[in-house]
Amino acid sequence: MKIGIIGAGAMGSLFGGHLALGGQDVTLIDVNADHISAINENGLYIEGASGVHCARPRAGRPEDFAETQDYVIISTKGAHTENALVSALHLVNERTWVLTAQNGLGNADLIARHVPLDRIAIGTTNYAAALSGPGRLLLQAGGDLRIWAANGSRAPAVERLAEAISAAGLDCKADPKVEGAIWEKIAFNAAINSLSAVTRYRVGELGDLPAGRTLAELVAKEVAEVACARCVEFDLSRVQRLQDIAFTHHREHQPSMLCDVLAGRETEIENINGAVVREAHRLGLHAPVTEALLLLVRLIERSARNDKGEFLA
Ligand code: NAD
Repeated sequence: MKIGIIGAGAMGSLFGGHLALGGQDVTLIDVNADHISAINENGLYIEGASGVHCARPRAGRPEDFAETQDYVIISTKGAHTENALVSALHLVNERTWVLTAQNGLGNADLIARHVPLDRIAIGTTNYAAALSGPGRLLLQAGGDLRIWAANGSRAPAVERLAEAISAAGLDCKADPKVEGAIWEKIAFNAAINSLSAVTRYRVGELGDLPAGRTLAELVAKEVAEVACARCVEFDLSRVQRLQDIAFTHHREHQPSMLCDVLAGRETEIENINGAVVREAHRLGLHAPVTEALLLLVRLIERSARNDKGEFLA
């Protein structure tokens, strides 16, 4: 299988590194010159519970490659989805499937501007990983990836991709109920990520404070209401359980939105809280706590932009 990964940061390196170790023909596409050089010169090192493994995918900028791919996996942050896909569109032909397992909503819609909906797959993952340096990935123990065709139909091509990812050592399933899982992850992130970005508290500190727990619960309920209005199968108790687990067992975790705020980078607030609020308004609903957190993170992001509104980092 020829698999192109667009955005070879933490998640892209996780998927691409494992698929390369599993014997697939993997091309990592990114714009980070140091990361690209390190992978091409020394390989991609994946450090996790099973030790350290060195994968050897090829890496480069989009213009370095010409061969069309069987699958393309978009793994940029939400703000870069469309630019990144457009820059690598020459790698997509009429048989290529494009998968997004990014957080939040809206990425599949952006992809659908350039690729027919019946060749787009959506997914969600609770793997947690971070780059510890150029060419080096640190993977936390445990996680899974669930994927399905964006049009809701069963697609053998998506099942083959899930099998290839599983065979490469990651827990991946083709799951017709993926939309519910995506919305449950949005509920979790809309609460924990934005609260952490606003307060600068790590997850454990948020959970120690009654106000943190109450706000997280209110956001999860608002997202549940929006998901239910869309007829998505949504299990609020599962989200609350995941929040409890995070408050207790992932105490030191610094959510990516807080990392982005501290680094002066654009956050994924528009893809997460922003998408929920837009969807709520479209459906005639209100999500006041989710919206307040959206507006607060927008205010915080403002200080990281220049006069033209561009991000400095
Ligand atoms: P990341 O910042 O580590 O990686 C994103 C990569 O995209 C970077 O290497 C960046 O250089 C690259 N990029 C940016 N613009 C590009 C362009 N135009 N062309 C090609 N590459 C470009 O981010 P991440 O943590 O891997 O997150 C990716 C997605 O996965 C996000 O939606 C995130 O919320 C989601 N996610 C992350 C984790 C995690 O633990 N890291 C877990 C679950 C979901």
